[in-house]
Amino acid sequence: MKEVFLPGNLEELWRALEREPAPRPYCGGTDLLVHLRSGKTDPDALVCLERIPELSGVREEEGGLWIGAATTHARLLDDPLVRARLPLLARALSTLGSPPVRNMGTIGGNICTASPAGDTLPPLYALDGEVELRSRDSSRRMPLRRFITGPGETALRPDEILAGVRVTPDGTYNVHHFEKIGIRRAMACSIASLAALLRVSSSGEIEAARLAWGSVGPTVVVSGEAEQALLGKRLTRDVLEDAAERARKAVSPIDDVRASAAYRREVSGNLLLRLMEHRPL
Ligand SMILES: Cc1cc2nc3c(=O)[nH]c(=O)nc-3n(C[C@H](O)[C@H](O)[C@H](O)COP(=O)(O)OP(=O)(O)OC[C@H]3O[C@@H](n4cnc5c(N)ncnc54)[C@H](O)[C@@H]3O)c2cc1C
Repeated sequence: MKEVFLPGNLEELWRALEREPAPRPYCGGTDLLVHLRSGKTDPDALVCLERIPELSGVREEEGGLWIGAATTHARLLDDPLVRARLPLLARALSTLGSPPVRNMGTIGGNICTASPAGDTLPPLYALDGEVELRSRDSSRRMPLRRFITGPGETALRPDEILAGVRVTPDGTYNVHHFEKIGIRRAMACSIASLAALLRVSSSGEIEAARLAWGSVGPTVVVSGEAEQALLGKRLTRDVLEDAAERARKAVSPIDDVRASAAYRREVSGNLLLRLMEHRPL
């Protein structure tokens, strides 16, 4: 039986983290407990972050939104600020797991697991999310794109926790699209996913594009080439086919139990074709 600490505030958390060896932080446990059972990880002790009020909730800050790492997916989906200002993230959250998983799992856990299949990651990459890392003595911020250093790997130091993620939504984007391909509609990790933000002018020209794919590389894949192929063009099949071909070159998927690399590569491009069905908001 592991020792589990349940701090109710940050001071109690820092005290728990000063123990030797430091207990492993966790929140909903929906990833960690699976890894404990499979023997993939075996920390001596655990410290739960879910009772610390400073690490939960959504608030407006610095012109954007701050989302506490310990906020559950279900709470985020219910949050009016998230629904109104981050529809791309809300769409991804609605596809994540099932209601019980969304009630327990948190955005911080999804980020720290750093799985290429983490559903909140492609939207947060497209939105240029920034993580806030805290220890007793320090607080630092960095782009999420830099925080995730590989599959299951992050730049988190042993004395730090992820406190929250900051997103400053650019209100000029008028197409917000997230799609996930899985083997089932629910309770399925993605085989491939795409988060896309476009700014389309009133005359139908694409003025800006942000694209990020999940499950088709060691981390989220972004492709400047695919984005560039859309700029100054209209949302036609030919334009999207051209960008899709560039996307298929940019991704580096693997074969696994869910799908072959070749299928994932094909689907990565095909996901872009769906943008044709979008009318700007
Ligand atoms: C049945 C099932 C279905 C699932 N379906 C999906 C799905 O469709 N899409 C998807 O993306 N994921 C899915 N998951 C994975 C999981 O639910 C999510 O990744 C969830 O967001 C993890 O959050 P958590 O709070 O439970 O993380 P935990 O399990 O508590 O922690 C995960 C990892 O992050 C670390 N950690 C957590 N919070 C912090 C923090 N604040 N600071 C530092 N380290 C931290 C822990 O040490 C651990 O390594 C599924 C899981 C299950 C069991």
